[in-house]
Amino acid sequence: MVFTLFRPIPVKILPRSGRQQALPILGCRQTQPHQEILEKIMQIPNTNVVKAQTAVIAEFLTSKGLEASQPAILTLLAKLQVAESSVVGAAKVQADAAAENWTASAGAMTDEQYVTRGGNCCPSCGSHDISGGSITVDGRSAYQGVTCADCDAEWNDTYTLTGYDDLEGGIDKDNVDAVVADVKDRGERHGFNVDDEAQANDCVDGSAEILGLTLSDAEKKLAVRQLLE
Ligand SMILES: [Zn+2]
Repeated sequence: MVFTLFRPIPVKILPRSGRQQALPILGCRQTQPHQEILEKIMQIPNTNVVKAQTAVIAEFLTSKGLEASQPAILTLLAKLQVAESSVVGAAKVQADAAAENWTASAGAMTDEQYVTRGGNCCPSCGSHDISGGSITVDGRSAYQGVTCADCDAEWNDTYTLTGYDDLEGGIDKDNVDAVVADVKDRGERHGFNVDDEAQANDCVDGSAEILGLTLSDAEKKLAVRQLLE
């Protein structure tokens, strides 16, 4: 969450009774503002953000019987921002440290510790004197047997399919669409329907010729399927 803030001015929030009282949300241990306010703030468009944010918070505080000035609310937002970033930052630092500070005496590495090292070591003794065999693909996963020359450990590196890249060739959708549109157009103009596969094949060949396009077998098959749908 990112708040746009003016320079915060420290101001105490006064309850309606006039007696000074610390707002629970301003307590130093409180790191998460009320979900209700957050949701409202997230829905505010970018124009006049600070004014709108403070208005929403003021409305919320009023509903709880508390009055707060704009500077007080801005101070609150600044504190929340600092608290949130320090909590998130600390958690990340802790996780990174746990992943990095592995020694063999702690037992075999966790997956996270292993992945942090790029899998480039033995998860049992930490040695880099390892060698991998062939990779076996199994559905969405793949694995590779690896062995360690130092401690004789054997394990499988596991991989997960995350997508594909650099697609080339294949079906030219524009050409298929153009041919299908031409067949439909001719059908409308000359009053015929495409009802069976043989006829659809002829029509596809005819339109491809008219348009000067060469369709692959896969593209023809797709065009025929689209005409018969
Ligand atoms: Zn080893």
